[in-house]
Amino acid sequence: MQNILQTLVSHDFEAVLSIDTASRRYHFTFLREKTLLNVPSDGDFDAANERFADTQIVVADRDHFLKEIRLEKILAEVEKNGKHNIRYRLRNEENRIQYRNLSFIFSSDKKGLIGAVTDETEDVLEHIEKNRDLWLKDECIRFIVRHMCENFIIVNPETDEATTFVHDHRQMQPKSSWKEQIRWFADNIVVPEEREDYEAYFDLDALVSRIRESGICKVPCTVNYSDGRHDFMITNALIRDPGVDEEKFFVFSSAQDITRLKRANETGETLLAKSRMDSQTGLVNRATAEKLIRESLYGAKPDEWNTFLLIDIDHFKSFNDVYGHILGDAVLRFMGEAMREVFRATDVLCRWGGDEFVIFIPRFENEQSLNNRLAALQARMKEFRNQGDPMPLTLSIGGVIAKNESTLNTLFSKADEALYAVKEKGRDGIVVNRIEPVYETADVSQAAGREMS
Ligand code: GH3
Ligand code: MG
Repeated sequence: MQNILQTLVSHDFEAVLSIDTASRRYHFTFLREKTLLNVPSDGDFDAANERFADTQIVVADRDHFLKEIRLEKILAEVEKNGKHNIRYRLRNEENRIQYRNLSFIFSSDKKGLIGAVTDETEDVLEHIEKNRDLWLKDECIRFIVRHMCENFIIVNPETDEATTFVHDHRQMQPKSSWKEQIRWFADNIVVPEEREDYEAYFDLDALVSRIRESGICKVPCTVNYSDGRHDFMITNALIRDPGVDEEKFFVFSSAQDITRLKRANETGETLLAKSRMDSQTGLVNRATAEKLIRESLYGAKPDEWNTFLLIDIDHFKSFNDVYGHILGDAVLRFMGEAMREVFRATDVLCRWGGDEFVIFIPRFENEQSLNNRLAALQARMKEFRNQGDPMPLTLSIGGVIAKNESTLNTLFSKADEALYAVKEKGRDGIVVNRIEPVYETADVSQAAGREMS
């Protein structure tokens, strides 16, 4: 019988010991051969624990072990729970980590304790192995969250339970319910002007029906971080849990920080806008004007009339020679301003090059109104002052009113002819010709010309 008991005990336990509570002495009733328990078979319980902790237990577990193995602590726990377990790790001869569980119960007369050591290494390693897969997946998610700046929430719409993965815990605080999470975002980081819309949009029921109706829903959102405002794009979708219940849906909501992307885009747009402008006058440059005029001609109805004007500053070369280029540049800027004052933003206002300007007015043929505007432009230029002194600035203007069939080249050459005529006649004047489409008039140069000044 003794043998059978011995065999059973040795199968399950590495060691069994009894402790006399009054004298605080222990005694090993059973100690398997070749154990890692390198302690005398009996002695003072406190002293033995101290030595054991110092020499055998891994450093990280030492304090915990000493705290849990205090006799008073064991007694209190056993009194309360019927037993007390202490888990600790030590290293074997090959320096591999081993896992042990030391559990205590009262002896039958309750005057002492019985302790038993089990080797849990295999179980623990198996558990670790099983969990490794999950940990790895978790780690991958963390990697994605960190490096793609994604924050996301998975929520069970039936229970409102939410799991939140956030990229930066200093900026965002994860909550365990959707309602709380949305409120936290609204209270703490969403910019005040968007807060109301934000809360309405992320009402869970409304969100779920919106996703059901239109599939994946994206919404922009601006938040305040410690380093300033950030632009987020929030993508919301329904996902299934394939492992558990194919019918069960969760809301998946992910937020991507698009601040840098947006800024890069804006910078790109600014650069693009700059490349379309003439930097001196702020008017569009020649290449842009050509594109805009061709697009307008191509897109409009064939029988609509447009006005194309070519404007040149008179004797500008001498102006530069007499007053200097810096004042000449100021004249060009003044001209840009004057054109913007007199014409509309929908008109193409262009510095074609040098002292030559182009104006294209789509769907416009009213000669009277045109004459008034051009007279206003000429008058405005005469108001240019140099330190209070009036300057001799006049404009020569040649133009054409033509139907949409005319190409840009035709418009330009006809306007140029008209401008030449003005220059020939002594400058400071306007000639605008109305021309019929080429197929209606055999020789366009014979088209009725009307001098407007
Ligand atoms: P016309 O009445 O026949 O038009 O005489 P003009 O002197 O204006 O004619 P021309 O085309 O020979 O001269 C244009 C002048 O415009 C030459 C150049 O000095 C001046 N110019 C061109 N671009 C600029 C610029 O960016 N700034 C300044 N200040 N002057 C410019
Ligand atoms: Mg000129």
